[in-house]
Order: sequence, then C-alpha cells, then structure tokens
Amino acid sequence: MKRIINFSAGPATLPLVVLEQVQAELLDWRGAGMSVMEMSHRDKEFISIAEDAEKNIRELYEIKDNYKVLFMQGGATAQFALVPLNLLRGKTSADYVVTGDWGKKAAKEAAKYGRVNIAASAQDGGFTHIPEVSSWKLDPDAAYLHLTTNETIHGVQFSVVPDVGEVPLVADMSSDILSRPLDVSRFGLIYGGAQKNIGPAGLTIVIVREDLIGDANPLTPGVFDYRGVADSDSMLNTPSCFAWYVSGLVFRWIKAEGGLEVIGERNRRKARCLYDYIDSQDFYRNPVAVPDRSIMNVPFTLADATLDAAFLAGSVEAGMRGLKGHRAVGGMRASIYNALPESGVATLVEYMKEFVRTRG
Ligand SMILES: *Cc1c(COP(=O)(O)O)cnc(C)c1O
Repeated sequence: MKRIINFSAGPATLPLVVLEQVQAELLDWRGAGMSVMEMSHRDKEFISIAEDAEKNIRELYEIKDNYKVLFMQGGATAQFALVPLNLLRGKTSADYVVTGDWGKKAAKEAAKYGRVNIAASAQDGGFTHIPEVSSWKLDPDAAYLHLTTNETIHGVQFSVVPDVGEVPLVADMSSDILSRPLDVSRFGLIYGGAQKNIGPAGLTIVIVREDLIGDANPLTPGVFDYRGVADSDSMLNTPSCFAWYVSGLVFRWIKAEGGLEVIGERNRRKARCLYDYIDSQDFYRNPVAVPDRSIMNVPFTLADATLDAAFLAGSVEAGMRGLKGHRAVGGMRASIYNALPESGVATLVEYMKEFVRTRG
C-alpha cells in the first residue's frame, strides 16, 4: 500500500487511523454481523452511532442546549437555498458579505427567496481580502447576515468572528468547520458539507439556534424544514448513514488528538510553514492580505505559469496529489485540512524549493 499526500480541496484527505478503523469494522460492525452500510437507520446499532457523533461534536464545540445539531443531505449548496427558506421568517431581506465565489453563489441562490443586500463584497479586489467590518452596509431589519468563514477557492478566511450586533450571524463553514476553537454562541446558524474537514461527502452539518427554527417558508420541502429535521433527530427520512458514522469517528479522532485547541495550533503551524516560505522568495506568490489568509486552503502562483504543468507532474512523482489550483484563480492550491499532517506540508515546501533550484 502506498498512500499519497493528498492536498485535494474536497473530498479530501481523512485521518489514516480513522480509515483503518473503518476497514477493521467494515464487514462486521462490533458484532452486529453487518456493515454500517447495511444497517437500518432505525436499528439500535445505528442510533448509537448517530448519538455518539452528535455528543462528540457538541463536546468539541461546547455547543449549548439551545442549539440543534442537524445531520442533513444536499451539501452546502442545498443550504444556500435552505437558509433563506428557513430563516427569513416573514422578513423580506437578508444581508450577505461576499468574500469569494462561494459567498457569491450563496447570495445568488438566496435572491430567489427574498431580497439580498450585499452588505460588503471583495470582488473588485479579486477576492484577496476581507472588507473592514466598519465599512459593511448592514440592514438593521435583515433576517440574518450570511458570510463564508473560509473561502475555499480564494484562500480568504475570517481570523475572528465579526461583531454584527443583534442580527443572527449565519456562516458557511464548509472548509473550516472544526479547524479551530469557536464560540458557537456567536452564531445563529453554522453549516458545512462534511467532505472538506470532517468525513465523506453526502453529509451536511447544520448547527442552529433553536429559537430561529419553526417558521419556515411554507414552500420549504418537508425534508429540508429545520424544525422537522430537528424533531426527528435528523431521521425524517433515511440519512447519510455511512458518512454520519465516519464523521463520528473523525470527531473522536479530534478529541483523541487533544481537541480543537491542539488541532487549531497545528493548523496554524502548517499554514505558517507554507506562507513563510512563499513570502521568503520571489518565484511563488500568494496574493491574499496577510491577516485574511486561510489556514486551510493556500493558493499560490508560479512566477512563470508555463511551468505549472511541470510543477504538477513533479509533485505527483514526489508523492503528492491535488495541488492544481481552482480554474477561477489558476496556479496551485494546497488544501491543508485537519487530516493533512505537518510532515506533508514540510514535504511540499521541500519540493517547492527543489523546483525553484532546478527549474526556476
Ligand atoms: C465546497 C464548498 C461549498 C459547496 O459544497 P457542496 O457540499 O459541494 O455543496 C460551499 N461553500 C464552501 C465554502 C465550500 O468550500
């Protein structure tokens, strides 16, 4: 067996120990005589798996009792519609802060269901910074304010949770959920697809303050009404059982690693290692304002784009995959989620240095 260093933006690398546990339990989950894939979601075995996962994510984020944790389907993209459908609650408008392509997509989808006020956008600058909070044009009557804590494509991340007053803060955290400690009580709702930092694709985590749910637009599909999902413990219909199970193992892995303080510190070290090198020379470049740089996705360009293909081919030879940048930005992107080890980042930096020596 040869495992590569996987810098894919998503679906993305998972902790090896988790995959090994999945493998060990695959044919006969703890004496059940079947795999998790083959269990009824109503079986006591799966109920215990589901409850254990919820308990552990609650512990990791210290989620208070007035928040529901929902295990949904449809990805973050479904949430782009489900947030306005569930949270407009009779109001006509919502605020969106757009710091990259994902926030732009979220705002566009929301505009089908209500008025969208773009409170701030960094598009003019090519999505390379987060506009000053003092410059945001907030609507005091907005049903909520939506932002994307980490823009996966542009590598722009909020380093702190902005203070926006009373309006419920809604965050797409698809690519930085569980990457660092977080005060969940600052948010009305947090959502994220599992496939970046948590587990297999097919599961979407929604953490929502209970007083915000129960007044969905009547046209909201029943399976996507947060109230119904919450009341049925996310089993209104068949959930993404296997993804839920693997995600639960990842939550346990984070706890075993020392929790979010330790994981966050490690993620900062990994990012610093890469940015320090990028900033120390002229061949590679990252365009993002230093305070707003992502610790999860690090885009960088080569001084000579005609060398991109050679860089990528060489990286594969050196045991790395997934470094090709998003077409919207070009160049390279190293996604360095929780499960990407520090040694993997060190290998990448060594390879980058060697490439400059031989080809730069
Ligand atoms: C990947 C991603 C999405 C889209 O997620 P899907 O699960 O594919 O719908 C949305 N927002 C952010 C920030 C992402 O990184």
